[in-house]
Amino acid sequence: LGMATGPVQSLLGLYVAIQRMSVSLDRVMELRRATPEVSLPEQPVTLPEHVQGDIVFEQVTFGYQADRPILSQANARFSAGRSTALIGPSGVGKSTVIDLLLRYYDPSQGRILLDGVELRHIPLDQLRQHIAVVSQEVTLFRGSLADNIRYAAPSATQEQLLHAIEMAQLTDWVATLPQGIETPIGERGSQLSGGQKQRVAIARALLQQPSILILDEATSAVDEATEREVITNVNRLFSGTTRIVISHRASTLVDVDERLLLHEQQLLDDLPRHTDTTGVQGAS
Ligand code: ADP
Ligand code: MG
Repeated sequence: LGMATGPVQSLLGLYVAIQRMSVSLDRVMELRRATPEVSLPEQPVTLPEHVQGDIVFEQVTFGYQADRPILSQANARFSAGRSTALIGPSGVGKSTVIDLLLRYYDPSQGRILLDGVELRHIPLDQLRQHIAVVSQEVTLFRGSLADNIRYAAPSATQEQLLHAIEMAQLTDWVATLPQGIETPIGERGSQLSGGQKQRVAIARALLQQPSILILDEATSAVDEATEREVITNVNRLFSGTTRIVISHRASTLVDVDERLLLHEQQLLDDLPRHTDTTGVQGAS
């Protein structure tokens, strides 16, 4: 290696850089996802400090392929401060609705508004800062527990961090860790149970203080008792936040204020207790 000069040296440097990068592969993946496929606003509208989190879909049409629409002139409202279940069978396009909300894609027709402002006019980073997504696969990287929770709010104080940990009911577990919140949690959080990962995701969302919280099949990997606990917690902690809950388990949907059914490219108001049309699998 002593002979390594010029291009060889740079290759070695690159190799080391890639090695370092793979440490936080999840973050790299996230960056890839965050690369805008959508156009940035020419005259961005800055959202007010306090965003209500009122979401309106107006005549929204979208499909990945022209011959397979996911939404066709769909209208819907996710009301500020309320929880709305988004239901429908697997593959119908529920996660795509969330992707549209986060502007990973734009509708081909129609528009989506946040507090009356069209998403296209909101700077992407601002928009996404207001939305926290907890999904089945919690994105964890090698680093301390604290780093992982601070992920979406790096400037949070130690006090805020500890408060979030307490609210997410992680305090007892943290007390058993050799280095407390500074304990490395391993590649992809391999040392954490499913329930612990969900709570880390909730602590992270608490620090982020989003206007909109999305649970996209967040709890489908944990047992039903843990799921109930997580959902109850979320409803308590994020009671004033607009919540969108996607789940296949009917038991998750008991506490929601509204239900929207994605059916034949429409977002339909779904009346409670008509579960036979929801595509939701029974809880038992
Ligand atoms: P759900 O969340 O309801 O299970 P999705 O929104 O994930 O459904 O997917 C809806 C449909 O769009 C599925 O047929 C899926 O295969 C397809 N799909 C999802 N993401 C993409 C993508 N990035 N490119 C092309 N097709 C996709
Ligand atoms: Mg999905």
